[in-house]
Amino acid sequence: MQRIYFDNAATTSLDPEVLEAMMPYLTSKFGNPSSVYSYGRETKMGIEAARKSVAHLLNCAPGELFFTSGGTEGTNTAIRAAIHDLKCQHIITSPIEHHATLHTVEHYASKGIPVSYVQLLPNGHVDLTHLETLLAAHPKSLVTLMHANNEIGNLLKVKKVGELCEKYGAIFHCDMVQTIGHYPIDLEKLNVHFAVASGHKFHGPKGVGILYVNHQVAVTPMLKGGSQERNMRAGTENVYGIVGFAKALELAMEHYERDSAKVLEVRNYMRDRLQQAFPTVTVNGDAGEHCLYTVLNVSFPMTDKLEMLLFNLDIAGICTSGGSACSSGASSVSHVIKALHPTTADTMIPVRFSFSKYNTKEEVDIVIEKLKGMM
Ligand code: PLP
Repeated sequence: MQRIYFDNAATTSLDPEVLEAMMPYLTSKFGNPSSVYSYGRETKMGIEAARKSVAHLLNCAPGELFFTSGGTEGTNTAIRAAIHDLKCQHIITSPIEHHATLHTVEHYASKGIPVSYVQLLPNGHVDLTHLETLLAAHPKSLVTLMHANNEIGNLLKVKKVGELCEKYGAIFHCDMVQTIGHYPIDLEKLNVHFAVASGHKFHGPKGVGILYVNHQVAVTPMLKGGSQERNMRAGTENVYGIVGFAKALELAMEHYERDSAKVLEVRNYMRDRLQQAFPTVTVNGDAGEHCLYTVLNVSFPMTDKLEMLLFNLDIAGICTSGGSACSSGASSVSHVIKALHPTTADTMIPVRFSFSKYNTKEEVDIVIEKLKGMM
């Protein structure tokens, strides 16, 4: 059976060129980067070349980048550092963050750090006026807000939030997992103290990411027990993952104009075809331009027949999600949709279609026909 993959916000397939760049480090270049002889030196060089390339593409210093296992680790580390090392006394976040953020914040709330949740506008955007009120009321805050929401795709005005944080002396951590590798990002211009990215969201390997730590802040080691990552994150490095991360970012930025235009066209085609075929469908989040070009989240009104929609899509070989990856297969309503539609969330079936450069309009047509048969 032909499978159609429309869940690229959950993960993307590895670009063959990325695999090619990784292969030497999975085979002949196997040395431990901490070893002083040639095998070690060549893998160490692979890591440092990757760091330089990523720093160049994101406009930051190589010394501001730490390779991690991905977005979850980076966010846990940033929040911990803001509380323990930078002595933030209050956390400001939103109710629609990724669980990597929300569950970490809840952990610190249980240890006595007060938390404020910024209000959302009806289209799911963060209310910046309320954010400023919170910042004015709570000195020494950590603001942790995502650049793009992984479920509905809304984009944060990250530069504006950075400016507000600077005005009120707050620390700003930004989860950029859905934007780094999808947009040109200039970290120097954004006033962020911490930012995270994850390789598998832009056709790189899984299990590797970056944590950006602005040189203006000093943090203590994330993992102890070795001198890797300039004494900050002990443990033998994921060399092939790091090399793959850098190659994936390089390819993503090299082909950004071409790929983003193609993905946007397929996404908008899906939106238009859905609205034509099913007039009761509604778009969740910002349906306009302040939204990821990779994500389209729609709701179908709940009926007995539609209750198992995601399951039936899966049986038909169509891979989508109801929100985040873990809710695939069952039509449970996500915390993001609940926050957006508190009174009506249970009457709708949200489906997130998320797109990559490998998707086509023909795939959209197939999905629309299959959906017609399920209504
Ligand atoms: N933050 C966002 C916005 C995400 O979409 C994800 C992945 O689902 C994560 C964090 C977690 O990233 P990772 O899978 O690299 O731990």
